[in-house]
Amino acid sequence: MEKSLNDDMFSVITENYGLLTQTIADAAGEAGRTPSDIRLMAVTKTVPPLYINHALSLGIELIGENKVQELLAKKDFLRGSYEAHLIGHLQTNKVRKIRTEVAMIQSVDSVRLAAEIDRLAAIDGGVTDILLEVNIGQEMGKTGFSPDEIEEKALEIAAFSGMRIRGLMAVPPVCETEKEIRGWFCAVRRLYETLRGQPPLGGMDVLSMGMSSDYREAILEGATLVRVGSALFGKRRY
Ligand SMILES: *Cc1c(COP(=O)(O)O)cnc(C)c1O
Repeated sequence: MEKSLNDDMFSVITENYGLLTQTIADAAGEAGRTPSDIRLMAVTKTVPPLYINHALSLGIELIGENKVQELLAKKDFLRGSYEAHLIGHLQTNKVRKIRTEVAMIQSVDSVRLAAEIDRLAAIDGGVTDILLEVNIGQEMGKTGFSPDEIEEKALEIAAFSGMRIRGLMAVPPVCETEKEIRGWFCAVRRLYETLRGQPPLGGMDVLSMGMSSDYREAILEGATLVRVGSALFGKRRY
C-alpha cells in the first residue's frame, strides 16, 4: 500500500519515541537512577493535534506548550488523558485564562505573576502547582529569576496559599561542549537542593531541565522532567 505523508510522520514520531525512551533509560542507568523517576514531556508548540494525539497514543502523558492561545486552541482536539503544563512566559493578564486549564505553570518568573495566580486562586479556593523559572546563566533578555535573588523570592512566593512551589525549571545558555552544559545543569541542581533545604520549600520534587539536544546530560545531573520537542516531532515549522 502507498504510504501517505501522514503515515510517514506517524512512523517518524513512533521511532523517535522509541529512541527517546531508550536514551532516557540508558542515562538513568548510567546515573544510577530509576527511569520511572524521569518524566518525559512532549513539547507540542507548532505541532498539529493530529500528531500530538499520535504521541499520546504511544504512551506520552505530559505535554507542554509555550503560548496560552495555542494551548487553548488545541485542547478541544486532543484525545485521551494527559497533563498539560505551560512552559512559556506568562503575562499577568492571561493568568485568568490558563490557570485552571493546566496541571502546572512551569514558567513563574516574577513575584508579581505569582501574586496574580494567588489572587485568582483565592476566589475559587484552588491551589496551582508551579515551578520557578531560573535564568541560571544570568543571560540578558531571558526570563527567569536570577540565581542570587531566587531564594528570597521563593520564600516570598511560598507564603502564598494559592500555589505550591513544586520545583525549578531552567533553560541554560547554549553550550559547545558536554562538560559545559553539564556544568549548568549541575548548578541548577545545586540551587534546587539548597532551596529544598529551606522548610517552606521542602515540598519541591520537580527539576525540569533538558531539551532535545541535551536531555541526556540533564538526566545525568538530576533532572526529573525533560522537555522534548524536535527530537520527538521533528524540526519545527513556524
Ligand atoms: C521549545 C521548548 C522546549 C523544547 O525544545 P526542543 O529543542 O525542540 O526539544 C523545551 N522547553 C522550552 C521552555 C521550550 O520553549
